[in-house]
Amino acid sequence: MFRRVAIIGGGAAGATLLSELLERPVSQPLHLDWYTGGGVPGRGVAYGTRSSLHLLNVRAASMGMFANRPGGFLEYMQKIDPAISGTDFLPRSWYGDYLEAQTATALARAKDKGHDVRVVPYEVEAAVPENDGVTLFQGESQTRVDAAVLALGALEPRPLSGVSDDALASGRYVIKPWPMLAEVKPDTQAHNVIVIGLGLTAVDVLLELASKWPNARFTAISRHGLLPEVHQANAAMPFEDSDELVEAMRDAPDIRTWMHLLRDAIPRANDWRRVIDCLRPHTAMLWGQLSHAERLRFLRHTRWAWERARHRMAPQIAQSVHALEREGRLRRLPGHMHNVVLTDNGLRMTFLPKGDKTEVTLDADMIIQSTGLETDVRRTQHTLLQQLMTNGHIRSDPFGLGVDATTDGHLLHDGKPWPRLFAIGSLLRGTLWESTAMPEIRQQARQLTDRLLAD
Ligand SMILES: Cc1cc2nc3c(=O)[nH]c(=O)nc-3n(C[C@H](O)[C@H](O)[C@H](O)COP(=O)(O)OP(=O)(O)OC[C@H]3O[C@@H](n4cnc5c(N)ncnc54)[C@H](O)[C@@H]3O)c2cc1C
Repeated sequence: MFRRVAIIGGGAAGATLLSELLERPVSQPLHLDWYTGGGVPGRGVAYGTRSSLHLLNVRAASMGMFANRPGGFLEYMQKIDPAISGTDFLPRSWYGDYLEAQTATALARAKDKGHDVRVVPYEVEAAVPENDGVTLFQGESQTRVDAAVLALGALEPRPLSGVSDDALASGRYVIKPWPMLAEVKPDTQAHNVIVIGLGLTAVDVLLELASKWPNARFTAISRHGLLPEVHQANAAMPFEDSDELVEAMRDAPDIRTWMHLLRDAIPRANDWRRVIDCLRPHTAMLWGQLSHAERLRFLRHTRWAWERARHRMAPQIAQSVHALEREGRLRRLPGHMHNVVLTDNGLRMTFLPKGDKTEVTLDADMIIQSTGLETDVRRTQHTLLQQLMTNGHIRSDPFGLGVDATTDGHLLHDGKPWPRLFAIGSLLRGTLWESTAMPEIRQQARQLTDRLLAD
């Protein structure tokens, strides 16, 4: 059992691991250091939003913080409003309230149980893992712990290639949509906005800006020009043939066969969503079955379709986006951005529409890069990850999706697992593929707690 543990990261993953550790009965008190990096502990990027337009993309019934109580969030919400149903897609800010409340309860109980918990509102700047412990550096202080867990979430986005320095310096090209949305005021209104990307982040950006800037028009560009798929209003029953399907996929781990198997299963399920959803608990296992070449094939050809089908919009969000299109305020363009330069009047993008050979130019007052999750540790400016990479303590996974790790979260160096340095959440995407949403994170927190507290 590791008695002195550091959790590095103050978002939902860090909060979940902390709460899970504090819930467990243990023979000796724990000493936990939770480095939150500032901000409100527990909320992180996703649940820090205060906008009522930003909804969860998972139904309330499945968003509990603890793996053994998936209905915990619904219970919490129904105490506030009994009319809330498990199939509802609720505001993310409410989920942030829930995370904060659960964490506060866990911290209060920790005192009664004699645990010593320090919540440190700063970033860990460096770490040195060894076989018998990890040394952490933050400001002037240096702390030795028995084990440390990186719960750093997604990394800061980087500007896309082709964006000129003067466009970046102008303030008209936005790389980080979340801080911008939190601060945007009606009087800074832009009229002609390009949004790069068409995933769930882009949808949040479009809805928030459309409501704050009623006269703005939006052009959203992406490779295929397609919005995420939409959840059904009501939750569907689990797919009856899921065991058979998962077994067939496990036995033939290549993408082409998998596509055939999925196409065959869909008519039997009546709704393709049931087929996609039944794979969720098995995704990490299936990803583990694929060879390196097959994983690359998936990332190159199938990933965009998987992401669209897996990360769906709530029905009311889809209605709002379609209303923007009907009102002529939003157009979607499939194709590739080539570059962005600053002009006298704003920004100009050179864009190659899908299927065309001739570039066109698109003018905008503002361009918002909304391309979603960044987890490529090879190019990150993140101080701690850069230090760990530079010193050879960790390395990227082979796909640039996160850090190289074992499936139970031990970070790898020279192919060997560190016995006392772990990661949880988005950084494990290369190892587990699905590793960003709460249902996966709470499962990881549970397993990691078992590991950390094992005798
Ligand atoms: C817009 C959006 C909507 C989403 N919606 C859903 C949803 O509806 N349902 C769902 O299940 N999932 C959703 N997700 C997935 C989401 O990633 C997870 O649910 C969860 O929020 C991830 O939390 P995290 O703690 O891993 O990351 P983050 O929330 O990114 O938190 C990481 C934290 O680490 C801190 N940190 C970074 N470096 C250091 C350091 N060196 N020292 C100390 N602290 C540090 C940061 O300040 C930050 O607070 C959404 C994600 C986004 C971005």
